[in-house]
Amino acid sequence: MILDLKSVFISDGASLPVDFELDMHDMDFFGICPIKKPVSVKGKVFNRAGIVTADLSCSVEFTAPCDRCGKETVKHHEVHTQRVLVSRLADRESDEIIEIPNMQLDVTELCTDEVVLNLPMKHLCREDCKGVCATCGKDLNEGKCGCNSVSHDPRLEALAQLLNDN
Ligand SMILES: [Zn+2]
Ligand SMILES: [Zn+2]
Repeated sequence: MILDLKSVFISDGASLPVDFELDMHDMDFFGICPIKKPVSVKGKVFNRAGIVTADLSCSVEFTAPCDRCGKETVKHHEVHTQRVLVSRLADRESDEIIEIPNMQLDVTELCTDEVVLNLPMKHLCREDCKGVCATCGKDLNEGKCGCNSVSHDPRLEALAQLLNDN
């Protein structure tokens, strides 16, 4: 969606509400598309003392397997962005400033980039997810399995074998 911001640029105190849905259902994250529902984007673009700022919040529902145990997990994330918009960039580049020469902002592009860059790297069903046993595959959140957890050390395994033989 393209926002025409001329009216905001020319008048101090002007404000334009932003409220739209962003379709990211085919956005690929490491082979899966976890943003099945449209992302709700809300906020405003406002002019305060001649400085035009876009203040936007993207509400994302992220559905993907837990990084540790693999259980399908839904998490909500709020990705907030605040950027100063200028019609001409004076001299130096800045991450906080976006140049829009024709006073038109592509909010779809801005919000898509923000969501992709700012989603948490970790996706866990719960903070203390214990994952699954590497040996038997049991979900360790549901309790311990019968496997000896120290047996992954090959030296100890050899020792255990030795003791068993005697
Ligand atoms: Zn988990
Ligand atoms: Zn096990």
